[in-house]
Amino acid sequence: MESLSMAKTVSRGQEVRTFAHILLFRCPECKGPVTAACSSKNMDREQFATRVFKQPCKCGWSGTLGGLTAVQHWVECWWQ
Ligand SMILES: [Zn+2]
Repeated sequence: MESLSMAKTVSRGQEVRTFAHILLFRCPECKGPVTAACSSKNMDREQFATRVFKQPCKCGWSGTLGGLTAVQHWVECWWQ
């Protein structure tokens, strides 16, 4: 009986599964790579199409980058 109650205490309720989204942009100034990363509970990439990122480039350029203009978009399973 005791081992049964032990098994019941093992809960997965504490785990929150999220997704890390990594977006790669091309800098409009130096054409170099600019990356932006954020986490989301949704793994769907389309939600980022309308999102705007503020990510400065190493060359000194800073401005906004539309999610739709990302050259590449990776999604990684992330546990918080
Ligand atoms: Zn740049």
